[in-house]
Amino acid sequence: MHASWHDCFADCPGVLKTAERQQTVVRVRDVEIGGETFVTMAGPCSVETESQLLATAHHVRRAGASILRGGAFKPRSSPYSFQGLGREGLELLAQAREETGLAIVTEVMSEDDVPLVAAYADILQIGSRNMENYTLLEAAARCGRPILLKRGMVATIADFLRSAECVLANGNPNLILCERGIRTFETAVRNTFDVAAIALIKQISHLPIIADPSHAAGRRELVPALARIAVAAEADGLIVEVHPNPDKAWSDGEQTLDFAGFDGMMRSLEPYTALRADARRKGALMEAVG
Ligand code: PEP
Ligand code: MN
Repeated sequence: MHASWHDCFADCPGVLKTAERQQTVVRVRDVEIGGETFVTMAGPCSVETESQLLATAHHVRRAGASILRGGAFKPRSSPYSFQGLGREGLELLAQAREETGLAIVTEVMSEDDVPLVAAYADILQIGSRNMENYTLLEAAARCGRPILLKRGMVATIADFLRSAECVLANGNPNLILCERGIRTFETAVRNTFDVAAIALIKQISHLPIIADPSHAAGRRELVPALARIAVAAEADGLIVEVHPNPDKAWSDGEQTLDFAGFDGMMRSLEPYTALRADARRKGALMEAVG
C-alpha cells in the first residue's frame, strides 16, 4: 500500500487492509458481496405498485441479478415529489423476495425507521444525502443488518471512509460501499462517476465496493458503459435502476433501464466479468506460487 495513503486515512484504521484482513465478504441469504462473483442488484428507484415491483423482480432475476433494490422511503429534492410508499412498499418488497428468492436492499432515511426497515430488508441502504448523518449511521449499524453506504455527493474519499469507519466502530462489520457519482462543474451528466475512487478503495480497503451507474449517469443511455467501466475498475458489483416502463416511473425515469435495456447491459458485461474471473484466478495462482 502507498505509504502516504496511511496518512490520508489515518482516522479510519478499521476500513484499511491489514495483513490479516485483505477482503471482507458480506453474506446476504445465499449471496456473497466482495467474494468471487460479481453481484448485480437491480430494481426500480421507488416501489410503486405490486405489478411494477413483481414484474421487475422476476425479470431481473431471470437476467442474472441476485438482489432486488427499491425505495420505500425516498429522499426527494422537492417536498412535492412522491416520497415513497413507506411500510406498504416494504411489504411489497418482502412479497417479491418470497416469490423470487431475491434478497432485498432498501433505503432507511431516519433512525426512527431503522427497526421497521430492518424487519423487512436484508440490506439497509444509507443514501448519499445521509452519508454524514451519524445518528442514522449508528442506529443502522447497531440493528445488525448489513449496510450499503452510498457516497455523499460532495464527500471526499476520506469523508466517505470516515462514515464507513463509524459503521464498523458501532459493531457492524457487514458493510458494502457504493460509488454513485459526485457533484462537479459538469452539467451534461447528473453526477461525475468517480471511477478512481473505486480503484483506490479496492487498493486500500478490505470493504466491498459496488457502483451505481444509474445515479452517476442520470441518463439511461450511459448506464451500460459506466457499468462496464465499474467492472474494469474492480468493483464488486452494481446497483442499477430498472422499471417495466421507465418513462412512467414515479422517480428517476430518465436514468432507468427498461427490461430490454437491462438485458442488453447484462449481455454487454459478460466479456468483462469473464476477464475479471480470469484475472482473479491468475492473481490467486501468483499468490499460491509466491
Ligand atoms: C437511490 O438509490 O434511489 C438514491 C436516492 O440514491 P442516492 O442516495 O445515491 O442519490
Ligand atoms: Mn433513484
